[in-house]
Amino acid sequence: MREQDKQHRFLIETCDVNGQIVQLDKCWKDARARTEYPPTIQTVLGEAFVATVLLAAMLKMDGKCTLQVRGPGPVHLLVVQVNSEGECRGLARWKDEPKSHDVKTVFGEDATMTIAIESSNYDEPYQGIVPLEGDTLADAMGHYLSNSQQLRTQLIMSVNTDSASGLLLQKLPSSEARTEDEDGWSRAKQFASTVTDEELAELGAQELLRRLFFEETVRLYDAKDVVFKCSCSRERTGNMLIGLGMAEIEDILAERDDVAITCEFCDAEYRYDSVDIAALFKGAVSDDDTPTQVH
Ligand SMILES: [Zn+2]
Repeated sequence: MREQDKQHRFLIETCDVNGQIVQLDKCWKDARARTEYPPTIQTVLGEAFVATVLLAAMLKMDGKCTLQVRGPGPVHLLVVQVNSEGECRGLARWKDEPKSHDVKTVFGEDATMTIAIESSNYDEPYQGIVPLEGDTLADAMGHYLSNSQQLRTQLIMSVNTDSASGLLLQKLPSSEARTEDEDGWSRAKQFASTVTDEELAELGAQELLRRLFFEETVRLYDAKDVVFKCSCSRERTGNMLIGLGMAEIEDILAERDDVAITCEFCDAEYRYDSVDIAALFKGAVSDDDTPTQVH
């Protein structure tokens, strides 16, 4: 059985082509643990997870990378976030079940894809908003990567209930190219295009590369773990409540037994009854307790 929840980088030396293989298993199941997604939305969400993991690795950033798609279609929001530790989280929100996983059907015409990067490598957060080009999210992401990095890119994905997988090829910039082989890119692309959904989902990275590029020299680098993990916590939620102020919370507690906050990303629920709230605010100076001077 192949390794689970891994991201692999490789280099096809004889073609001057960089690549990645991402195969998400438990991470992908954990991402859907609390939400029953219709099949078409599941496909798009799986592609978004794979695409964001690939993108985060390509940027070699120290921070987090967020992919967000918004549109007027049946799925009005899709968001996936991956950090440099390989921790990812994400969700989709929908009004109706789309009839296919074509991006125009899922998100509607004029939907946009936003890529946001917060990283210590950049002075300021980066945000790029682009139209969704192509039929699938894999196409759209392939276009984005080709344009933003000015390097030819090919992206193939396969999503089912057990795994979400992707194979990415990118031509090396000419400054890094070692061979004089003009045909390298088209050869690599041609070999990659023969991959089947089953091969991409089931074969280990080594075996997959051997099958696809058997005539080429391929170097496979160490794999990296990918895991579903949400950065929400009781502490963060508590700080948010303190930020709201005691008066607001007392209004809620006057009508119900506790204050419940549900994390949008992982659906974890944090509940606070009046005792919890008292403990939370003890020591915390809320805005409402701060004397204000009235002139
Ligand atoms: Zn969460």
